[in-house]
Amino acid sequence: MKIQTIELYQLDLPFAGGVYHLSGGREYRSFDASFIRVVADDGTDGWGESTPFGATYIAAHARGVRAGIAEMAPALLGRDPRHLDRLNDAMDNTLVGHNHAKTAIDVACWDLFGKSVGMPVCDLLGGNTGQRLPVISSIHAGTPEDMRARVQDHRGRGYRGHSIKVGALDHEGGPALDAARIAACLADRQEGEFFLVDANGGLTPETALRMLNLLPDGADIVLEAPCQTWRETMSLRQRCAVPIILDELAQSDGDIAQIIAGDVADGIGLKISKAGGLTHGRRHRDICLAAGLTVSVQDTVGSTIAFAAIAHLGATVPARALRCILDCRDMVTVCTARFEAPVQDGGVLVPDAPGLGIAVDRDVMGSPREVWSL
Ligand SMILES: [Mg+2]
Repeated sequence: MKIQTIELYQLDLPFAGGVYHLSGGREYRSFDASFIRVVADDGTDGWGESTPFGATYIAAHARGVRAGIAEMAPALLGRDPRHLDRLNDAMDNTLVGHNHAKTAIDVACWDLFGKSVGMPVCDLLGGNTGQRLPVISSIHAGTPEDMRARVQDHRGRGYRGHSIKVGALDHEGGPALDAARIAACLADRQEGEFFLVDANGGLTPETALRMLNLLPDGADIVLEAPCQTWRETMSLRQRCAVPIILDELAQSDGDIAQIIAGDVADGIGLKISKAGGLTHGRRHRDICLAAGLTVSVQDTVGSTIAFAAIAHLGATVPARALRCILDCRDMVTVCTARFEAPVQDGGVLVPDAPGLGIAVDRDVMGSPREVWSL
C-alpha cells in the first residue's frame, strides 16, 4: 500500500463560550484548524486534525502547521501509510520538531490503517479497555461565581471531572482570586468528582505557594502546569505536597523521560498534537504506565476529528492510570464529523467501527487548500 494523495483543508472553529480566558491575560475567540486527508493507492482514505490553541499557548501556530505539512508532504508520497514509526522517521528526516504539523498526517494514517484492516484505531494501539472514558470539563478563568456556575452546568451534563483555569495576574486579583475561584468550583462537589487546577504555566513558585496557602483545608485538587519553566516547576515541586501534573512542558519523548528522571510530576496531560500524533502519544502512554504516572488524554482544542483520536488513545489506557479525557467537541461550534460517542454517565464509549470510526462532513470541510499527489 502506498500514499497516493495528501489533501490539506482549513476551517475556523469559533469557541462555543464566546471568549476563552487563560492565565496571563490570554484570550481566544476562534481556533484555526488544519485537516489532512490521506488517500492510498487502493482508494482507502484517512483523516487527521491539528488545531493549535492559538499562537500563544505553546510553540505552535496554525499557519506553521500548514507550512510544516507543505514541507513534509512531498517526501511522504509513495510510502506505506501503515508503517507509522517509519512514516514518523520520514517526517523527522524532512522537518525537525513541529509536532503540530506532524499530528494531522500521523492521525490520518492511523485512521487509514484501521479502515484498511477493518479494525478500530484503539485496537491497533493495543485494544480497548472497554471502560467508559471519564470526560473533563474546561472551565476557563472568570469570576468565582461564574466558574462555579459553569462547573454546575457541566455536572448537569454528566461531567465528573473539571479543569479549573487559574493564573490571575496581580492587577487581576492574584493568588487571592485564584484561591477564591478554586473554593467556588469545589463548593458543590459531589462524590466521585475530581478537580484539576490548571494554571497553564501562569504561576511563579511564589504565587503558586501563596494560592495553595489560601485554600480551604483538605481541598482535594491536582495542580496542573503551575509554572512556565522546568526550574520553577522543580522548585515548587520540592516545597509542595499537592500532586502535580505537567502539560505544556511535556511535549517530546525526552520531556516525558525528564519528568520521570527528576520526579517532577505525578502525571501528564497528553495532548495528541503536542506529542506529534498517536504514534508518539502511544509511546508517552507506555512510558507513563511504566513509571506509574497518570495520563489525561487531551488535545490543544479541536473538532470531532481531534476528539475521535483522543477517545481511541484514551480507550487503551488502563483505568488506574487514566485521569480523564478532554471532550473538545463542546468547546467549538463547528461539527466536522459524525462520531457515535455521546457523553453518558460521565463518560464516553468508543464505537467499534474501523479506523477512527468517523464520517467526515465533506460539505463542512469544503475544498482542499492544497493537494499533493504521486
Ligand atoms: Mg492543561
